[in-house]
Amino acid sequence: FEPWEDPDQKPLIQFRNVTKRFGAFTAIDNLSLDIFEREFFALLGPSGCGKTTMMRMLAGFEAVSEGAIYLSGQDIGPVPPNKRAVNMMFQSYALFPHLSIWDNIAFGLKRDRLPKNAIGDRVSEMLKLTRLEKFAHRKPHQISGGQRQRVALARSLAKAPKLLLLDEPLGALDKKLRQDTQFELMDIQEKTGTTFVIVTHDQEEAMTVASRVAVMDEGRLIQVDTPARIYETPTSVYVADFIGDVNIIEGHGTKSGDGYDVTFAEGQPVLHAKTSRDLGSAGKCYLAIRPEKVSISAEKPEGKTNLVKGAILDIAYLGNLSTYHVKLASGQIIKAQTANTRRIARRDLTWEDEVWLSWTETAAVVLES
Ligand code: ATP
Repeated sequence: FEPWEDPDQKPLIQFRNVTKRFGAFTAIDNLSLDIFEREFFALLGPSGCGKTTMMRMLAGFEAVSEGAIYLSGQDIGPVPPNKRAVNMMFQSYALFPHLSIWDNIAFGLKRDRLPKNAIGDRVSEMLKLTRLEKFAHRKPHQISGGQRQRVALARSLAKAPKLLLLDEPLGALDKKLRQDTQFELMDIQEKTGTTFVIVTHDQEEAMTVASRVAVMDEGRLIQVDTPARIYETPTSVYVADFIGDVNIIEGHGTKSGDGYDVTFAEGQPVLHAKTSRDLGSAGKCYLAIRPEKVSISAEKPEGKTNLVKGAILDIAYLGNLSTYHVKLASGQIIKAQTANTRRIARRDLTWEDEVWLSWTETAAVVLES
């Protein structure tokens, strides 16, 4: 069982009909959400959708306007930030430059007047967890950016919060280091069992680290699910389009057998999408097809249900992948992506070539809007 699928697992955080207004502006709109113990949860969405506001309400820097937030069943509305079992790690890290790494990590524990040996033990444990033992006596400016990030993490976890909020935690790191650090973050989350909630602009990062992702728009939750289900079975065009690359074909759908038949242009074949979702009689609808699920070939393949013909407009060579932009006679442009397993991308296909595109009935997701 993953935590959210385990019926005995308790939610750590419960948003119940939470609304947050700034003056006349509604930043969070009647939102309800459970985040479970030991989960690594990501908030994703465009700028201004309310991610930071969600974090600030959890940390206690903002009060809710309506509704309530519960932590382990307790309404945390009246609890001040420093009394919540919640900590927030900021992108800037906010380390004290004049203090050693050891003292930075010990800071909150000293402020709580813990016994000296308890502080020593806890700091050692945190240094070990974040592989910083060797740097304990250095100052923040004497270590690398990645190491500073780990100090900030060690300091945020020192007081063993139940919930750690991570606001763009890897934003200051370059791409390669960022990717390595994502795995480290996952490892530390698992070892400590602390619930992590991360806000990131990088959707790949959210998909990598999180066990569940919430896609938000204008203060509302659009879809909350595992990364795989968000990617494979988005429930709206918004989510399909927000996560990864996708072809969206607008058409008219009618129920047919195990799914929907979709007509999308004159002279083009009727497409079929298998689905267990009930969209009623459908009518105007959209097909969402990931480019890597579209096969491309110069020869007409046999026995394909979803088969269209077009001409190559563009080829983007990405090293491990190539993306082909193919224009149909009816004007739609469809992207097909192939893995470049051979040394050189398929040389047999080039600009303006006539090609056939096909995909399976389960590769296309039919959506209302
Ligand atoms: P970004 O990705 O750019 O950080 P976000 O999703 O974190 O965006 P929030 O910072 O939560 O978005 O802001 C949500 C909305 O609420 C925005 O439209 C913002 O302008 C508004 N907002 C946030 N804080 C305040 C405030 N103190 N006063 C007025 N409006 C605010």
